[in-house]
Amino acid sequence: MVLHSALFRVNMAASIVSQTVARGLRGASANHLFLDKFKCARVSSRRWLNLQEYQSKKLMQESGVTVQRFYVADNAPDALQAAKRLGAKEIVLKAQILAGGRGKGVFDSGLKGGVHLTKDPSVVGELAKKMLGYSLTTKQTPKEGVKVKTVMVAEALDITRETYFAILMDRACNGPVMVGSPQGGMDIEEVADKTPELIFKEVIDIFEGVRDDQALRMAANLGFKGPLERQAADQIKRLYDLFLKVDATQVEVNPLGETPEGQVVCFDAKINFDDNAEFRQKAVFAMDDMSESDPTEMEAAKWDLKYIGLDGNIACFVNGAGLAMATCDIIDLHGGKPANFLDLGGGVKEKQVYEAFKLLTADPKVEAILVNIFGGIVNCAIIANGITKACRELELKVPLVVRLEGQHYCFWDTTRPVTIRSFPGTNARMNIPTGVMDRCIQVAVGVECMTSILDMTEFASTHGSSSGVQ
Ligand code: ADP
Ligand code: MG
Repeated sequence: MVLHSALFRVNMAASIVSQTVARGLRGASANHLFLDKFKCARVSSRRWLNLQEYQSKKLMQESGVTVQRFYVADNAPDALQAAKRLGAKEIVLKAQILAGGRGKGVFDSGLKGGVHLTKDPSVVGELAKKMLGYSLTTKQTPKEGVKVKTVMVAEALDITRETYFAILMDRACNGPVMVGSPQGGMDIEEVADKTPELIFKEVIDIFEGVRDDQALRMAANLGFKGPLERQAADQIKRLYDLFLKVDATQVEVNPLGETPEGQVVCFDAKINFDDNAEFRQKAVFAMDDMSESDPTEMEAAKWDLKYIGLDGNIACFVNGAGLAMATCDIIDLHGGKPANFLDLGGGVKEKQVYEAFKLLTADPKVEAILVNIFGGIVNCAIIANGITKACRELELKVPLVVRLEGQHYCFWDTTRPVTIRSFPGTNARMNIPTGVMDRCIQVAVGVECMTSILDMTEFASTHGSSSGVQ
């Protein structure tokens, strides 16, 4: 999915966009709002590869980045064993979910905090028991939380100072950029909001890489002093090597901390990857943990559809992320609520149209379906045939409002009013030309007039069905 900050700004209904973002970026870092603030757009793809913290830390270790020693467990006795085996002065037990803010999260077992520190390894089993199999709710999870299946048992270190450091791909800079703040360990959005002067940026030349002076300047801006400055600069360079090596779009360390023993350590890890690099990052993508993904979103991804479920009741069937977002916004403007964000993409095939309809109609929340297609690359006839097939086979029960415009839309009879059989007395056209898209959406919101399955069938019989229509 392509989400441009520019689009965010011109969009009318910020609430819908933020809802889309919140759902779509769950699992990704929450610093998108912060990026938006700094006019840095991000391109992300169909579905992010999400790794758990322990997986990201393994990658960090392989690149020589300093992380604490750790084990992973999926049951309480193993967690206890791991704690004993660590032989550390203090132990940190961390619930592994694809969301941040765990430290301040709450479990439905009653346990508070997804990150626990203890000096007594024998309590780790008890703590793990209250984490594993329970849902953890944080600022970044859905309300019902995310079930914890794995815990990380790590050596805890005293932290004298927590900083924030990230490297990300930034469209505005045409390449990677380092972002850091001496105020780490907390919500970086809050820091950006309240004390923007404490956010530092270094644009990286993709050919040159991180220069020594840049790494040292960032380390100094993060507040590392004396020998720690050199050490932090070294960690920064290694993190950049990792960023390149794994085709990341983001490497975020919050906190990047310092210990009283004079060590710079990455205490948390969040890496996002460029899905386009999947072909050469087989080992990384093989670690993909899909267990926390929404099943509908996963099914949509199988058909290469960009789908994000939302809370409303009007299903949207749109091509192009921009038009999809605008459609969500206009629905909101007219007082409705979209049930989803769906971008069919340009090269959509009849089968995908059918599958998309299957997804939309399977959602019990959906009370109307709005089709809003601009046939730029896509041929409207393909969409029409896909919809017709879907309507016939899926026995569509909810009202359908269709707006097709662009390539081959002329196959739709724009002059002939279509009889609305399932809703007698209404006189609507199946195709509403450009300029009245707004009206079309209004119709979907009000469900004042609608096109029935029979109308679509009628269309197909006039113009030929299946891929016969060109
Ligand atoms: P989240 O960002 O999901 O809340 P973190 O991994 O950042 O999770 O952990 C939350 C806080 O717990 C950190 O900011 C840090 O203060 C503390 N913490 C995390 N790991 C360690 C560790 N190994 N030793 C000591 N404190 C830790
Ligand atoms: Mg953190």
